[in-house]
This record gives sequence, structure tokens and C-alpha cells, in this order.
Amino acid sequence: MSGVRHIHLFVCLTLFGLMSGCVTAPVAPLTERNHGYGQSEDEQKLIRRANQFETELLAKGLVLDDDTVTTYVQRVGQELVPTVTDGAVAIRFHVLRDPLVNAFALPNGGIYLNVGLLARLENEAQLAHVIGHEIAHVVQRHGLQQHHSRKATIIAAHIADVALFGTSIAYLPALGALASYSQEAESESDRLAIGYMVSAGYSLQGAEQLFKLLQEVNQRESIWGSVYSSHPDNAQRASETRSILAGRYSNVGSGRINARDYQQIRERIVLENLRLKLNIHQYALAVKAAEHDLALAPASPWLHYYRGEAYRLMAEDPSGAAREYAWIQDEKLNDELVERYRQLRTVHLDKARQSYRQGLSQDRNFAMAHRGLGLVAYAEGDGQTASNELNQYLNLGREIHDRRYINNILGRIHP
Ligand SMILES: [Zn+2]
Repeated sequence: MSGVRHIHLFVCLTLFGLMSGCVTAPVAPLTERNHGYGQSEDEQKLIRRANQFETELLAKGLVLDDDTVTTYVQRVGQELVPTVTDGAVAIRFHVLRDPLVNAFALPNGGIYLNVGLLARLENEAQLAHVIGHEIAHVVQRHGLQQHHSRKATIIAAHIADVALFGTSIAYLPALGALASYSQEAESESDRLAIGYMVSAGYSLQGAEQLFKLLQEVNQRESIWGSVYSSHPDNAQRASETRSILAGRYSNVGSGRINARDYQQIRERIVLENLRLKLNIHQYALAVKAAEHDLALAPASPWLHYYRGEAYRLMAEDPSGAAREYAWIQDEKLNDELVERYRQLRTVHLDKARQSYRQGLSQDRNFAMAHRGLGLVAYAEGDGQTASNELNQYLNLGREIHDRRYINNILGRIHP
């Protein structure tokens, strides 16, 4: 924390000279008495902005509306919140419908966990470290600290890539101003998260596992400046965490991991993550995610289905597939690349068919697989098979949301 103040002081001296009002009082954590949360004009402004930001997230459909998931995350979260003086701020937990691997905490106590991050986790102890880290940002008032020592943010420069995919990522620039913290603040949050985990009885293995999992995250699935991206700072955080575990906490006994509890929400989260990826034309990344999850849950017909969807859409949208490839590889998108995907059309349709069939082999009455098989046949010009499969889909499915679309296709097969 003293580092942050030094930077602040340095900025003040360099930019403005010794102006009065530039040197601010240190920010007291909410666990201390007389913290004065929400009393300064600066903090009130931050809280107002955060409230407004949250309203927009909700209005734009970015907050996951799934009671099972939300209730679970809130339960885990509340158990980790340390005793906050006077209940100064109500810390609340939400899940954000965004496949980016990220989580953030706002100065008003709103904590958001992205679907993309939750889909990576395997147990509750790992989640406890993520949540604990975000709680620490609120408790230590890192938002206000950062506001006092604001340096130029680099996030804006990296938004364009993501925006190219037409996603709802429009919230990131606003978020940068509310929830980007110094390296010292990130380290402090990592450290405090371990303390919160111990108090709540979690196994510290969760913290270690978390950093291992995050090393596997593709840079593109995260964001620069995100604490959960695989940029070099992450390696440093991992090693800091390891030394904390080996030092002060080496004598802590085994705690709970709660892998089975996490499974209750994992499948829902994983499927939502795949839907979100497909929505923003991340076909190859969806295949990769589906295969990762199929290794853990090979009997899930839905995972087979979404892998099939990823291949089918890759075949039907060669430009989108080429764009994704160029984006991941940091290459230029050109006609040649699109042509390469056009030529792979048959291969991708075939892979899609195989995936749908695997889904059916897990559940003979799995309607979605018939939908997929029908659409593949239609794409291949096999009207007879398309019509059989799509009719089976309409007959088997309980709630068909795209009946009109499917009937439209059937109409084109039998005019
Ligand atoms: Zn953080």
C-alpha cells in the first residue's frame, strides 16, 4: 500500500507541483474503525458510477438470470466476506454473461464473475480464491486508491479486437475506469483471499490449482489487464501465492474442496459459456472448450451438441471462422484464409454430424441432435435426410423455440 502512496505522491509532485489538496489521506480498509466509507466526494462519485454501471449491465442482459447458479455463488461469497465494520457496504455477487476469463469488483460492493472464468473452475475451493480476491478489492477500497493514483489505462487499446467480434464487450472501457488496480493491490488481494479461505474452512489447494488452470488460458480468451489473463504478471502472482502458502499458512490443515458442490452449477455454466462463444463466432474456441469438458463429462449429450454446432457454424460461416483464426493467431485476415475455410466445409460438416451422433448415442431421445443432423443434411443438399431429422426434432422436442425457423427450412425442402 505504501507503494501506491509513493506513486501518488510522485505523480502529484511531477505533474502539479506541491498543490494543496493533492496529497490525500491514506485509504483505510473497511475492516478498520472510522474508515469513513462513502464520505469523500471522490468515493461518492465512484459509488454513483458503479451503481449506474450495474444498472446498465442488467438492462443490457449481461447479468446471468439463473437462480441455481446465482444462489450458489451468493452462498459461497457471503461465507467469505470478513466482518466489515458497520456493514458499510453490502457485498453482492453476480454472474456476468461474458465468455472472457475475468472477474471484477466495483467500489460499491458489486462483484461479478464471468461465465468464462467459472467454466474453467473445477471446485468450490478454487472459486473461493477468486471470490476472496474480489472481496479484498472492496474491503481494501482499491477503487478509491486507484482513483487517487490514476495512471493512463491501457485497456482501451485492446477493446477493438474484441469489438470486431460484435460482442457485448462494450462494457469494458467503462469497467477500466472503475475496476483496474495496481499490481500492489492485486498482490494484496491474492494474499487476503488466502486468509478469507482459511477463515471459511477451504482447502488452500484451491488457490494453487487456480493459478495452474489460469496458465492454460489462451491470451485471447482473457483480456489484457485482467487479473485472470496469462500475461507475465500471472506467473509472478502464482509464485507469490506459492510462497505465502509455504510460509505463513504451511501449518493450516486440510479444508474443504467441495468439488461435487461445484458440479451442481458447472454443467449449466459450461453450456452457457459455449452458447456465448458461439454467439460471438468463437467456433474454434468453442470446440476446444467443449472437448475440454467432454473429457470430464463424456456422457453429456449437450456438450456433443455444442461441439457439433461449432463445427456446423464453422462450415456455414467460413469468413467468421477465418476471422477467428486470424484473431487467435494474430495474423491478417485475407481472402486466402477465408478460402481455406470454404474448402474445409465438407470436413467440418462431417465433424458436426459425428458430434450430433455421439450426442444421440448418449441419449436416444435427445431432440437437439436431430436438429443438428437435419441442418447438416440440409447444408449438404440431402433433402430427404434433412426432412426426416428435422421432423424428429419437432416431434421430440418439448419446448421448441425455433419452430418457425425449422418450418421455414422444411418448407423450402418440400415447396
Ligand atoms: Zn484483482
